[in-house]
Amino acid sequence: MNDKLIVITGASSGFGYQIAKLFDQQGYKLLLLARRIERLEQIKAELNSENIMVAQVDVADYSQFKAAVEQAETEFGPVDLLVNNAGTMLLGDVLNQQRSEWQTMIDVNITGVLNGIKIVGPAMKKQKTGTIINVSSIAGVKAFANHAAYSATKYGVHGITETVRQELASSNVRVGVISPGAAETELLEHTTSDEIKTGYKEWKQTMGGSSMDPIAVAKAIQYMYQQPQNVNIRELQIAPTMQID
Ligand code: NDP
Repeated sequence: MNDKLIVITGASSGFGYQIAKLFDQQGYKLLLLARRIERLEQIKAELNSENIMVAQVDVADYSQFKAAVEQAETEFGPVDLLVNNAGTMLLGDVLNQQRSEWQTMIDVNITGVLNGIKIVGPAMKKQKTGTIINVSSIAGVKAFANHAAYSATKYGVHGITETVRQELASSNVRVGVISPGAAETELLEHTTSDEIKTGYKEWKQTMGGSSMDPIAVAKAIQYMYQQPQNVNIRELQIAPTMQID
């Protein structure tokens, strides 16, 4: 029975929202985290489910993140899946980009992922079950112009995933990474350079008019999770067919 608790970070839009909808339809208990609490409340109302808790959490804030998970576990039982999905992409070239933007990406995309693992990992290890899926990117396996700092964080997600996978494997805990290509979400909007944003949108036009529907990524995560516990999809890449890079 699908009565396990799933924690999804960055659930207020994009992939996180679609992942929440998909798992809600299957009856899982959900803890949805993001900073925009009003968006999370709207999603909870839209899904109209008693199995959903939401909390305003900045994933870079360990105490806040941990408190929300503990509260959900009190209500719903132990976390069976953590989707470390929250992320931010502030594109820019190293020579011109504000250093504060690098730091923001490091805080969210790397520290946020490490925080999540540190919060749910010990109980999963003890219970000898559980799954952690980290959301990286194709920019975590190959380089793209204007992606240096973002790419560094996503390559980092790969390094974290493979290391922690090895560390938790003998405890029957699965750790995997998914690397999406370009998808239609709010991600690009946070980039501050209009020129880079325009270039990115033109690039997406080469993929047949629009990039990937975020539902495809949600379904891929569901597929990774719904393997038997003794089968771990360590890594999965998913991108628009017409994305050449
Ligand atoms: P969105 O911008 O739509 O979603 C990002 C989510 O992360 C939002 O829910 C946002 O919520 C949350 N978030 C951002 N910063 C924080 C924070 N400090 N604490 C908590 N939550 C935070 O983009 P996507 O859905 O595309 O992004 C999801 C993941 O997918 C990211 O890790 C991204 O790097 C990755 N990805 C996306 C691709 C794409 O083309 N869309 C391609 C490859 C990877 P809020 O602002 O409310 O906090």
